[in-house]
Amino acid sequence: MSMKDYEFWFVTGSQHLYGPEALDQVAANSKAIVDGLNASGKMPCRIVWKPIVKTAAEIKTMFKEASYNDSCAGVIAWMHTFSPSKMWINGLKDFKKPYCHFHTQFNREIPWDDIDMDFMNLNQAAHGDREHGFICTRLRMQRKIIVGYWQDEKPQNKLASWMRSAVGYAFSQNFKMVRFGDNMRQVAVTEGDKVEAEIKLGWDVEYRGIGDLVAIMNEVTDAEVDAMMAEYAEKYDMNTDNVDSVRYQAKTEVAMKKMFDEFGYSAFTTNFEDLHGMDQLPGLACQDLMAKGYGFGGEGDWKVAAMTAIMKAMAEGMTGGTAFMEDYTYHLEKGNEHILGAHMLEVCPSVAVNKPKIEVHELGIGDRQPPARLVFDSKNGDAIVASLVDMGGRLRLIVNDVKACNPLHKMPKLPVAGVMWKPMPDLETSAQAWIMAGGAHHSVLSYDVTAEMMHDWAAMMGIEFVHITADTTIEGIEKELFFNDVAYKIGI
Ligand code: MN
Repeated sequence: MSMKDYEFWFVTGSQHLYGPEALDQVAANSKAIVDGLNASGKMPCRIVWKPIVKTAAEIKTMFKEASYNDSCAGVIAWMHTFSPSKMWINGLKDFKKPYCHFHTQFNREIPWDDIDMDFMNLNQAAHGDREHGFICTRLRMQRKIIVGYWQDEKPQNKLASWMRSAVGYAFSQNFKMVRFGDNMRQVAVTEGDKVEAEIKLGWDVEYRGIGDLVAIMNEVTDAEVDAMMAEYAEKYDMNTDNVDSVRYQAKTEVAMKKMFDEFGYSAFTTNFEDLHGMDQLPGLACQDLMAKGYGFGGEGDWKVAAMTAIMKAMAEGMTGGTAFMEDYTYHLEKGNEHILGAHMLEVCPSVAVNKPKIEVHELGIGDRQPPARLVFDSKNGDAIVASLVDMGGRLRLIVNDVKACNPLHKMPKLPVAGVMWKPMPDLETSAQAWIMAGGAHHSVLSYDVTAEMMHDWAAMMGIEFVHITADTTIEGIEKELFFNDVAYKIGI
């Protein structure tokens, strides 16, 4: 399912005490809010108005239906009037989907000349929502709280951001991927507990021998390769005479796509140590598949492959770009420290600032033919890098805010795509904090997905979240990591 297929249910709590006339007004007002939010143009998915809930039975029924409806990616709740929260316990305690408590009010301003007790009794979100907040906290319920007037940009943007996180949650629950070959033989951070990942995150991480892919490649026709070549010619500049190498990548991509369609895979890994029966490491093939929304991880790194796919799903319809990334090398000029991110081949062209060029170069690692790949520079802009690591018994998501930029200088001899960035708060603190937190050398870089979206996604998933920001200090992060360890050990 894509972003537009999901919907969010907007439920307004009340009770019979107010009488039918007031309840009709509550219904009309909450409908107006839903219409206003949908008409704002900011919401990535449709918000669906649900009839006001006034009893424990109605509340329970609404949550049961939301739980079983595959299109419903989450519930947004608002208490226009007072809705006694004992009525909500049975419905809420079994509800597992993302939940947003939207603390707003129908009217922006107090109608100074006309305000009377009827008005006061109708417009009670200020205390009705506090009653609701108590029961959610008492139930230790994970939820997003958004405060603000419903016509204002800030709460609308927060709601849209949360909806994207919730779509990431739904995507994660139905996520399937394939590893072509295993992990690199000796690498630690790309390993992890796939059973735990399926329990916590919903991921089905499958394995297929590279021979299974080669068998499909051998059946790919010239016409299928021609069609893929035509697609490349439209999107990229051909900057090589080695057309055979490019055709080999086209054949690889066609075969991978066939397998992904057959088994429902949304992400994949390759491993240059395991290419039995292949002439080239997939380069251009991986890059073009990433541009189409597939997740990818190099060297068998299935966690980063999955995160790339999920973050791309969260960013659907946005135009900044999201890419599998690796911290490659540093520029340590005093006061102008930057990281150059790249990979052997596989950087997603969604982050390109210029039209990518198809080039063929020797790999320098491994023993295969020189692979075709896309070469380009990256955009300027605020971005994040994210890394999911397995701490043994729990998963930790680390996010660093960064300022990405065009390369500081031309790099004419560099045969791969690259992204430069300045990590927040500075390279010294960022790198120290990242290394203390155990962040991988692989990450997902995104100009679209924000740290707040990743925070909310991690909260929905019930995993640890560590955020390295412009305000991060080493002393602070050291304490945070220590207290997080304590919290997980004692099982808070
Ligand atoms: Mn790598």
